Amino acid sequence: MIKTTFAGIIALLFLVACSEKKEGPTPISRASITGTISAEAIDKFSGKNAFTHVEALTAFGPRPIGSEAYQLSLQYLETELANLGWKTKRQNFNGITPIGPQKFTNLLARYSPESEPDWNSSTPFLLCSHLDTKLYAEFEFLGVNDSGSSTGVLVEMARVLSDKNEGAKNVELVFFDGEEAILKNINQKDGLYGSRYYASQLDKRSVKPQIGIVLDIVGDPKIPLLIGGDTHQKLKTHTQSAASKLSLQNWVKLHPMTIIDDHVPLMNRANLPVLHLIGNFSEATYWHKKSDTLDKITFGALKNTGKLTLQVLHQLTK
Ligand SMILES: [Zn+2]
Repeated sequence: MIKTTFAGIIALLFLVACSEKKEGPTPISRASITGTISAEAIDKFSGKNAFTHVEALTAFGPRPIGSEAYQLSLQYLETELANLGWKTKRQNFNGITPIGPQKFTNLLARYSPESEPDWNSSTPFLLCSHLDTKLYAEFEFLGVNDSGSSTGVLVEMARVLSDKNEGAKNVELVFFDGEEAILKNINQKDGLYGSRYYASQLDKRSVKPQIGIVLDIVGDPKIPLLIGGDTHQKLKTHTQSAASKLSLQNWVKLHPMTIIDDHVPLMNRANLPVLHLIGNFSEATYWHKKSDTLDKITFGALKNTGKLTLQVLHQLTK
């Protein structure tokens, strides 16, 4: 009888442990990340390098879902990241869109020069951008600021983080396909295709990431960089203090509202605290227009976005 009861308690504890594990990410020990992203890394970010990547992507032409330019962009990122010691993985999936079933590809990258990383596990941090551009049949939409800019920032971030192994092993880079809606606006069924799929697959990993950072439209110094209203409170505080530290408080603004973007599935589906940084596109006359071209972004704004992100990561790993 005692034996049965004891076994019952063990079974109950096991069930509680399992259900707790299902509810939230598996904790990663603080000791493993402490001091891994140094203050010295912050000044190493080059806006010029980030710009060069945006320029290279732009040269392929518009990169909406299913386009040849999207494939060329994937190959470009794979080559650049491999040269920096990062391994990449294509996450292919099918999605139902208003124009029928489509094939999509997210690109994931981890710093692991010697061996293949364990894709079933996770790094503490996710650093994300979308790679696709909005589909327009009637004109050529290059999507320089939306979202070539954040893609370029991520590749330069890969260089900075892996230089002298600055915490690169704590970061997974994610380039989402299909962020843009096929029809005019993002809704529950159209848009965020890549992030919805990626978030659904995180359940299958043995270890979950702890924090997500999503960058979008980050290369224009003339429009404020917004901290999305649904950003996790702790991350809001960190980002505001990081902006003050870098004297960027006049550019980086807290937004009162949620802006629908790739962070939403990460928060809602994968239960991750996320920092959403997005340029205030409502002040950009060129947003989703043919005029989203290279003259809209600057080395300085790309550098400031890179430095701000590194400062936040530095503070989170202090
Ligand atoms: Zn867009």
